[in-house]
Amino acid sequence: MELLRHNNLRSSAAISQLAGDIAKISRKPIRLMEVCGGHTMAIQRFGLTSLLPGNIQLVSGPGCPVCVSSQRYLDACVELSRLPNVIITTYGDLIRVPASRSSLEKERSKGADIRIVYSVSESLALASQNPSKKIVFLGIGFETTAPASAYTVDEACRLGLQNFFLLSAHKLMPPALRALVDEELKIDGFIAPGHVSSITGTGIYEFLVKDYGKGVVVTGFEPMDLMQSVLQLVTQAETENPQLVNQYKRVVKAEGNRKALTLLNKVFKPADDYWRGLGIIPLSGLQLSNEYTQFDARSHFSIHERESTEPKGCICGEILKGVKQPLDCQLFNRSCTPDNPVGACMVSSEGSCAIAYKYNRN
Ligand code: SF4
Repeated sequence: MELLRHNNLRSSAAISQLAGDIAKISRKPIRLMEVCGGHTMAIQRFGLTSLLPGNIQLVSGPGCPVCVSSQRYLDACVELSRLPNVIITTYGDLIRVPASRSSLEKERSKGADIRIVYSVSESLALASQNPSKKIVFLGIGFETTAPASAYTVDEACRLGLQNFFLLSAHKLMPPALRALVDEELKIDGFIAPGHVSSITGTGIYEFLVKDYGKGVVVTGFEPMDLMQSVLQLVTQAETENPQLVNQYKRVVKAEGNRKALTLLNKVFKPADDYWRGLGIIPLSGLQLSNEYTQFDARSHFSIHERESTEPKGCICGEILKGVKQPLDCQLFNRSCTPDNPVGACMVSSEGSCAIAYKYNRN
């Protein structure tokens, strides 16, 4: 099937035509997962689900970095923030996520030095300016954000900085997708993340087609992108002809970003990691390779991440697997709101519950 070319990626006429095409070919119940929180946001923002026939269900997956970061990681962040002479640096959303008994925001109000940065490189500047302090950057996110962390650690090494550390919860997308299909969660096809794919290339999804018979479309973030991808996946599912398609060729190259991948492979090594909702997934995380151990906050501060419990009543883990929806949660828009989040999915702008609260709460 040829993908439509259209200059206006928000053209209502073209989107209506795609909706009509989808309705014409779709017969059976089909569940598609949009893996990326950015896709969930775009789907809700543009009201795309209302254009689809009732037999097609879009469910969101484990693509929000803040949401999949585990309670045990958050507890470790809180523990670190309480140490003397430590400055924690992090992107904004993470500080509001409730840990088991506190949050970084609460620790900050009690005096911990926790600073929000807009790029990980700001942490390096802080390290240079504060030689008597230890700067710990909380590195979360997938293949999209990991290269910036890798670059910064490499740079810290080049500059000979002794007081910069990374607490990595960076994660890899393919092992999580494999875990999802291994759990037989009845997903017929994947709308694959555009930003991750711009780094990794498209080959990381081949196993889904070859080993599991699932269609995959690498997709952009405009309404036309998403509707084209749904049409592709529905066609594949109806004709039982799963394929890997790159709908987002204007950004994603088949081979990805070689420079970023080289840096990732140099600075990090895969390690088992814990995902909210999915548990421990073998070789799904990125930890610093042996050459960079001196920058590893876990080794330097002897951090041992402990078993921890999810907030009572929060079904964020089930939502991240596509098993439940935000409105299934008893706490949604009652005790859990963006101003007073109970779970991680209500914090980040890419979290399913925060998105549902913004666009779909009535
Ligand atoms: Fe968790 Fe709040 Fe979402 Fe419920 S609404 S699943 S408590 S984040």
